[in-house]
Amino acid sequence: PKYVYDFAEGNKELKDLLGGKGANLAEMSNLGLPVPPGFTITTEACRHYLAHGELPDGLADEITAHLAALERRMGKRLGEPDDPLLVSVRSGAKHSMPGMMETVLNVGLNDQSVAGLAAQSGDERFAWDSYRRLVQMFGKTVLDIDGGAFEDAIEAVKSAKGSTDDLDLTAADLSGLVDAFKKIVADHTGKPFPQDPREQLFLAVQAVFTSWNAPRAILYRRQERIPGDLGTAVSVCSMVFGNLGMDSGTGVAFTRDPATGQQGVYGDYLQNAQGEDVVAGIRNTVPLAELERIDPASYRELLGVMETLENHYRDLCDIEFTIERGKLWMLQTRVGKRTAAAAFRIADQLVDQGLIDLDEAVRRVTGDQLAQLMFPRFDEKARRHRIAHGMNASPGAAVGKAVFDSYTAIKWSRSGEDVILVRRETNPDDLDGMIAARGILTSRGGKTSHAAVVARGMGKTCVCGAEDLRVDTKNRRFTAPDGSVVEEGDVISIDGTNGNVYLGEVPVVPSPVVRYFDGEIDPEAADAGELVRAVHRIMAHADGVRRLGVRANADSPDDSSRARRMGAKGVGLCRTEHMFLGDRRSLVERLILADTDKERDQALAALLPLQREDFVGIFAAMDGLPVTVRLLDPPLHEFLPDITELSVRVAVAESRGEKYENDLRLLQAVHRLHEQNPMLGLRGVRLGLVVPGLFTMQVQAIAEACAQRLREGGDPRPEVMIPLVGTVQELEIVRDDALEVLRKVGEDYGVELECPIGTMIELPRAALTAGEIAERAEFFSFGTNDLTQTTWGFSRDDVEASFFSAYLERGVFGVSPFESLDVDGVGRLIRVAVEESRAARPGIKLGICGEHGGDPDSVHFFHDCGLDYVSCSPFRVPVARLEAGRAAL
Ligand code: PEP
Ligand code: MG
Repeated sequence: PKYVYDFAEGNKELKDLLGGKGANLAEMSNLGLPVPPGFTITTEACRHYLAHGELPDGLADEITAHLAALERRMGKRLGEPDDPLLVSVRSGAKHSMPGMMETVLNVGLNDQSVAGLAAQSGDERFAWDSYRRLVQMFGKTVLDIDGGAFEDAIEAVKSAKGSTDDLDLTAADLSGLVDAFKKIVADHTGKPFPQDPREQLFLAVQAVFTSWNAPRAILYRRQERIPGDLGTAVSVCSMVFGNLGMDSGTGVAFTRDPATGQQGVYGDYLQNAQGEDVVAGIRNTVPLAELERIDPASYRELLGVMETLENHYRDLCDIEFTIERGKLWMLQTRVGKRTAAAAFRIADQLVDQGLIDLDEAVRRVTGDQLAQLMFPRFDEKARRHRIAHGMNASPGAAVGKAVFDSYTAIKWSRSGEDVILVRRETNPDDLDGMIAARGILTSRGGKTSHAAVVARGMGKTCVCGAEDLRVDTKNRRFTAPDGSVVEEGDVISIDGTNGNVYLGEVPVVPSPVVRYFDGEIDPEAADAGELVRAVHRIMAHADGVRRLGVRANADSPDDSSRARRMGAKGVGLCRTEHMFLGDRRSLVERLILADTDKERDQALAALLPLQREDFVGIFAAMDGLPVTVRLLDPPLHEFLPDITELSVRVAVAESRGEKYENDLRLLQAVHRLHEQNPMLGLRGVRLGLVVPGLFTMQVQAIAEACAQRLREGGDPRPEVMIPLVGTVQELEIVRDDALEVLRKVGEDYGVELECPIGTMIELPRAALTAGEIAERAEFFSFGTNDLTQTTWGFSRDDVEASFFSAYLERGVFGVSPFESLDVDGVGRLIRVAVEESRAARPGIKLGICGEHGGDPDSVHFFHDCGLDYVSCSPFRVPVARLEAGRAAL
């Protein structure tokens, strides 16, 4: 195989082989843009090297040939004493892995060529600084020497001079540092720093290959779900210098504003500097527009390059460039990252410009971005005082009084205060406090820290790792870099979408996107705003192309109406246990405690009309659309009083000589029904089989509500769903009873009741015997919450707060399987069930109603395995619609 591609030989489609950087450098070269000449060594060469510990046959010759061509083109030879060609050796994988792998600059300098560089540039300090950087980078990256050794040496020289600034170091100082660095190299490796430029090059290439497997790179890939066997490409590029005086410099630019999508000139420029100086923030950059004054010719050329890139990539690009003595060079480009709002606006604008079509616009935005746009946000017009910035761990805008421990968070929130829980970091003990708080702010930990993971799970706003804050939990206050001190009880505002922390209250406004979905903003109106118009247009197209239906999980008429406005075409899961809570709980207690048939029938009779009213409301809200009503599936403990509280009540009453017979009976029942593991206990269909009359009462309520709606001229479309079935026999029993009730109610009311009966598939056994179950079920809905719980053996109520953060941190999985479907395990069960149920009953309707129904990646999986619809919470319905559209393209 061919292992080395000249920039002119590659193109942007070759990311697998040339990495993102190499492929885009090639693309820019071919567009005739000013790219310093060079070549890229393929990922395939890297894979070979990592597998065998040596370069593949022929690679060395290919590198030599490409280097010779480069030397001819540049008119100088690598490391030549009088006028050296210098090269950079950069990593560049298919997926961007910022800062994870290695780069070596200035390869080709040695004790001779440093003088040549000084003579050619007329700048001795520059030459020695470049050599110093090479020995330092080479020492760290290639020779594995701890970087601290070099930094200490620099510090020593600076403090001897009484200076703190690198720029104060003279050519003589830097030359002395090179000697010191070479000594460090010799001491650490027992060998002198290699003077042979070719040897430098080959060692640097191998070091970049090896850096693919650096521990931090491995961890990053696990977390980002990037396959570990891709390898990195290596780009060898002739060096250009932005640090050759004030007519040189380096900068970064975007072809559009990555925050809003607006076209214009966005970026930063730094005179007399090298790339790493801009990123390191050592000196202050100037806005890119200033370049027009500093170097008008380069500025105009740069604008031309940006236009070429936009038209060519048909997207926002970000670029890195260098100006060497008035000559512009492009060092890198890629399709740039952007905010959620910008993603929609840019896609919409590019359609208007005729650069992309609507299919492509739908591909260019994501459900996650849409979800971000739906959170409430801080009012853009409001004044605010930013005091810190951290990681945007979980989106949203939260305002509240700062509290520094969970106990206070709970106490204050109970008395009606909004609080923000501020901690250095959180641990499982903070869980109750996190639940009580409006938002969470930590000064330590990244996006997979406990605080971040748990907050995202709860959908709670979180900013984590705001390292500038000094959090003093003992004295209940924190200090910001600007000196602001926030004491317990002071109001702060945190923005989980961008990681900002503000002093005081910043007003919160609902998202315009939600107001649009809710029907409050007409997208056609003149003042609808660009964002709403963009969202509307893209959503309409996604709806047009998707195959997957979208329903909502809703338990009340209000939720159902909202879901319908959000675009749901029916209710995929109405959890009836939610209708039994609140003040109806006592009726349920009566039912559970009933000793005689009569008592039980009375309790059921009391519940029946209440249930019927619920259903009438929901059927009306979803008139003409299917409503899947699931029969009762509570873990029993959710309905019964707390065993300790009740015991205390009985004991106290007894000691005071008060009446306690009822409580005692209740206590006995609670004891009788107590389960060690309620999630695996008397739930779902099991409850239906042991509490006579319960399921038939529910079916009767559904049937009567349906009959009532028919009489009112409505168009109810109920479906009855049986939960937690593990075997077809369970289903058969319940189904026969239900059919009988439906027939009887139809007769009583003199109407034709149409009501399919189906089941949830939420146990592995159900999935594995789906063929048999399908013979008795008119539809299936996969309950992926329980299916995940039972397939992994993870308690869905406990794990997120206990060991999941450790699992995520250690890379066992990149995302919680309760959040994004585990395709390999749980997904396999679903595929089996889809195939076998369709074989047994062609045309059986298949849906999913677990939390995964609103998760973008999972939606793509459900599309792929051919389900008919997904059902998710009303708020996620637009996300599911969009992702279903994207899955179909
Ligand atoms: C499920 O298990 O996925 C499901 C939808 O049911 P519930 O969450 O109510 O157990
Ligand atoms: Mg379930």
